[in-house]
Amino acid sequence: MAIFDELKTVGKVLQDAGKIEQYQQILDAQAKMLEMQKKIYDLEEEIRSLNDRLKIKDDLCFENNAYWIKKAGMKDGPFCSGCWDSEHKLMRLHTVNMGLVRCPKCKSSMNLGEYQEPRTRIAPWANRL
Ligand SMILES: [Zn+2]
Repeated sequence: MAIFDELKTVGKVLQDAGKIEQYQQILDAQAKMLEMQKKIYDLEEEIRSLNDRLKIKDDLCFENNAYWIKKAGMKDGPFCSGCWDSEHKLMRLHTVNMGLVRCPKCKSSMNLGEYQEPRTRIAPWANRL
């Protein structure tokens, strides 16, 4: 980053001139800029994560005790409602028995009721159950 190089050059001039107090101010400014750069990066990551969640939330629906993604006329799921509601993690539920599924993360089990394993309705972008 050009501004860091410029500050480094100014710092070197001040150091060579024996202006230690001013040199220290340049070092402090560099440290603050690095800190601000990290904050910007963290905020950009948070925005990206929130946008991803918003995109998922638009397609999410709650049915038969679980979340499903309905997109372009297709349905994918089931996903754990507890993990999504508490941590915004989309955890695919694993089939234990007919109608009974379990979350691999939080270990919650739930009965999907009349749920039938999809055969032809699965979305092309989704993994099979
Ligand atoms: Zn879960």
